[in-house]
Amino acid sequence: MSARKPASPAPRTAYRLSKSRLLSFLQCPKRLHLALHRPDLAEEDEGAARRMAAGHGVGEIARRLHPGGVLIGHDDDLGSALAETAKLVKASPRVPLFEATFEHEGVLVRADLMLPQGRGWRMVEVKSSASVKDYHLRDCAIQTWVARHAGIRVHSTAVAHVDTAFVYPGGNNYRGLLKEVDVDEDIEALAVEVQGWVSAAKAVLAGPEPAIAVGGQCDDPFPCPFYAHCSRDLPPGPEYPVELLPGVAGKRLAAALRASGIDDLRDAPEERFETDQLHRIWQTTVNGEAFLDPASAGQMAQYGWPRHYLDFESVQFAVPVWAGTRPYQQLVFQWSCHTEEKDGRVWHREFLDTSGEDPQRRFAESLIEALDDDGPVFVYNQSFEATRLKELSEPFPDLARRLENIVGRMVDLLPITKRFYYHPEMKGSWSIKAVLPTVDAEMSYDGLETVSHGQEAQAAYLELIAQDTPTGRKTELERGLLEYCRHDTWALVKLAKMLSEGS
Ligand code: SF4
Repeated sequence: MSARKPASPAPRTAYRLSKSRLLSFLQCPKRLHLALHRPDLAEEDEGAARRMAAGHGVGEIARRLHPGGVLIGHDDDLGSALAETAKLVKASPRVPLFEATFEHEGVLVRADLMLPQGRGWRMVEVKSSASVKDYHLRDCAIQTWVARHAGIRVHSTAVAHVDTAFVYPGGNNYRGLLKEVDVDEDIEALAVEVQGWVSAAKAVLAGPEPAIAVGGQCDDPFPCPFYAHCSRDLPPGPEYPVELLPGVAGKRLAAALRASGIDDLRDAPEERFETDQLHRIWQTTVNGEAFLDPASAGQMAQYGWPRHYLDFESVQFAVPVWAGTRPYQQLVFQWSCHTEEKDGRVWHREFLDTSGEDPQRRFAESLIEALDDDGPVFVYNQSFEATRLKELSEPFPDLARRLENIVGRMVDLLPITKRFYYHPEMKGSWSIKAVLPTVDAEMSYDGLETVSHGQEAQAAYLELIAQDTPTGRKTELERGLLEYCRHDTWALVKLAKMLSEGS
């Protein structure tokens, strides 16, 4: 009888891991598995695209700050990138390298900056955030581990992040935009773990899809693009989950209710709600009817006429584009104002800067011209609008007194609404987008086609001022932005009317 030949082992694929894939594994092994085996299931969010765009802008500045450096391209041919890096690392004299590419044990990394330091190198990871985050340290630990095992003398590792104290002087001078923070001590402890991460990630890739349920990891540090896939079979949650309870006390109570097996707010016993606000939310939800305290009419009656209803839109840049501005500064480019007379007449004025130049002076002057008279100025969440106007006083001290006058006349409708109004469909939120559809069902933000929330407004503005945007598209974006901001202030008119009537 001839001996049976042993079955050949299943062929093993030699998986190549990039740094971002390894970081995906650290967020969730299933994410890594899906990214490689089922990338078609990913749904990228707008936030990811925005973060990537900001990262590219900062990376480009970082390279400009090191003249004489060499960018190692070959984005589609990493073999060539590895070969070119190897050549340049040994070249003499050495120069800064951008996107230097290293590989060890199938893990491939690209370093943002490799700067000659003594007889070795300083590795710098460039980030568009305003500080060093924990996940940056894991990123640097992987990068340094690979480079060192590839034979590179990495003397030090740093994160270069955006310094929010930097004021752009103009003229493409970005010296000082980035702040380098040495992270050698922080990554030392992590470095010994990298080998384990790599082995575990490879084992995950070679095995079946890990059975991991959705949880806190799905949003930490970034939203996972596979959430829709992983959550597709989850049973629908309660209609009014206890987690809708707002504030620290609300969150604490929600956790306690969950722990005692209660997940729908309507099932919670009344005696658990100790504050007036939480009790009102519970009672209104149980009753299924809106609550409006008639005393709101008395509160609103104390304000004079005409009444102005005001809203701003602003934009932030990781890399400032206008002289005198700082990274991530909120820069106002649009306002909308409805004005209501005592006899019920309402008219509207607005401003939107489409020039692509610093809009702040024109914003401030046009607003002063519109509001340089009497009457309360209603806003929703006053700290945003008031802070923007106070900030405008710095570059334009000649306008400070009149800007302060507007701030002094502001009335915040948010605390008034919180005090006097709640509707079960607000589900624990007093954001204007949660409140408005309960005040006027026809005024949902869903009907706005081009711009329907603040992040879209920022993106629309950036597209609008971009030189290569076609004229037809610019017209569409301008219309969308004006409609969105006008919608916001018309919402305030409606809300104030309801509060003034008290019924
Ligand atoms: S959605 Fe959550 S469980 Fe699913 S892969 Fe992503 S992180 Fe993992």
